[in-house]
Amino acid sequence: MAWFKKTRKPMVAPAKEKASRVPEGLWVKCPDCSQAIYNKDLATNLGVCPKCAHHFRISAAERLRMLFDGEWIEYDKDLTSTDPLLFTDTKPYRARLKAGVEETGLKDAVIVASGAIDGIDTILAAMEYAFIGGSMGVVVGEKITRAIEMAIDGRKPVIIVSCSGGARMMEGALSLMQMAKVSAALARLDRERLPFISVLTDPTTGGVTASFAMLGDLNIAEPKALIGFAGPRVIEQTIRQKLPDGFQRSEFLLEHGMLDLVIDRREIKGTIARALRFMGTDAAVAAPVAVATTTAATPVLTQDT
Ligand SMILES: [Zn+2]
Repeated sequence: MAWFKKTRKPMVAPAKEKASRVPEGLWVKCPDCSQAIYNKDLATNLGVCPKCAHHFRISAAERLRMLFDGEWIEYDKDLTSTDPLLFTDTKPYRARLKAGVEETGLKDAVIVASGAIDGIDTILAAMEYAFIGGSMGVVVGEKITRAIEMAIDGRKPVIIVSCSGGARMMEGALSLMQMAKVSAALARLDRERLPFISVLTDPTTGGVTASFAMLGDLNIAEPKALIGFAGPRVIEQTIRQKLPDGFQRSEFLLEHGMLDLVIDRREIKGTIARALRFMGTDAAVAAPVAVATTTAATPVLTQDT
């Protein structure tokens, strides 16, 4: 009798049926605390884990829904890249654009819209990571620049929610030029004394960090978001030093003076509204509106009396 011999069991393929019993997409496992979260609960909680406050990545459309009071007007919806370099890497850039359109329903990696945030009229640009990594090409740069110009014309504040891997390499130097273009537009906004609030979400890297994402009058980030220019591996190889823990995360950047605030997604809307009121935009924006309402209200009052 063999005391220590293992009785052999034939190898069994893992049961696939078990996994498929739960309909796909109904539950999500939190990557931080491993809690299973009901998808609808996650949606009502703005994509934040109810147990450990892990911030899931949300789409640009969800971002708009989260920040605006109600309806919004979208601009330059149909602006598309012309693939100026006829670029091909592992697959043609045109095929990547097409896949992005199919996946997100957007024509490029940003949504620009105007609407009210807690009653304050604002111009908002939200980047979509699912569209070629939220990369900034000619279209993203142009849409954001037009948004800023529109804000100057309408005397409205600008909010940009960044979620991007940086400049779009398939458009080469043309994508890099967007950094200067958007920054110049923001300088004009600044000269007009209109506020710009930058919201940095996970991830905000490369040319987006190196331009508009860090130029806010107020730079707000979501907790534990990856924010940086080059990736940690590249930096380690260049400086030949081990990087500290939490390097390039929001909290680390806040500690080192690169950000103004790190706040929970559920409080971002309230914080933006408070900041805009503090900056005095509410008065600046509301003034012409107030005049309009009083002139409109006067005939009503005279009718009553
Ligand atoms: Zn969690």
